[in-house]
Amino acid sequence: MPFTQPLLSGALQIVRWLNPPVCLLCHETHTGVRPICVACQDTLPRNPEACRKCALPLPTTSRQHTPRQFSSGSLIKTDAFFTRQKTRSSPSQQMVCDPCRHTPPIMTETLAPFLMRGAIRDLIHIWKFRYHPHLTPLLATLFAEASFHLAPRAANSPGILVPIPTHWDRMLHRGFDHTWLLAQALNQHIPCSPGVKSWLKNRERRVAQHRLSRAERLSNASACFRASPKMAGSAVIVVDDVITTGATASAAAQACIDAGARSVKVWCVARTPAPGLSR
Ligand SMILES: [Zn+2]
Ligand SMILES: [Zn+2]
Repeated sequence: MPFTQPLLSGALQIVRWLNPPVCLLCHETHTGVRPICVACQDTLPRNPEACRKCALPLPTTSRQHTPRQFSSGSLIKTDAFFTRQKTRSSPSQQMVCDPCRHTPPIMTETLAPFLMRGAIRDLIHIWKFRYHPHLTPLLATLFAEASFHLAPRAANSPGILVPIPTHWDRMLHRGFDHTWLLAQALNQHIPCSPGVKSWLKNRERRVAQHRLSRAERLSNASACFRASPKMAGSAVIVVDDVITTGATASAAAQACIDAGARSVKVWCVARTPAPGLSR
């Protein structure tokens, strides 16, 4: 029926007009199609200048210098600017924090386009702890929009998406496997071949990371995964929702390398800044 689609679209618009969606974060009605309004989306704390190895925000002094843009729109570069550029290290070196430069992590790259605070923390908590699995596509979309703007190479470097496994009793309590759903949703944005694979398993029962102190998290996460040998020779992308200390991601990456993975990247929605970091 040629009129079916316009009729459905019109009916949907009437329903939305009669019953406008309410933003999950500010609880105001809005006209958008997402579960959060545009104003709240604009407040999501970005992580635009981060170490490409661990995704921690870089200190101001480590960030790459960009020339000042004047009102004429032209970029005016002085001799002093070029002199500074010559004496600086390359951009790829600059985008790595000092700890990662001194002790390179096992993963080749970590992408975390948001900082775990404010609106994104509220959104992730609603998603995980108040049973809102339907927010998964929104989180994947936010990740894709933010991270591929930051790192276009990510969209061109597919690998096998391997979610950090959720322990069965936490999954039972939560009602869904959040990292598996997130990896599936990311695969809609970045079709990866052969897609999402549950090739990481928990080796032992772990206490929920969010209940532990920083020191406890580091020891709790170590050596708690085993990876399938099926990933041998492949590029693997480990998927998690949040990186707090990096211990879980590092343990997962190490298990993948031990199983023969050619390389391991980590994609997560948000990164908890290091203690004492103000931004
Ligand atoms: Zn809102
Ligand atoms: Zn780093």
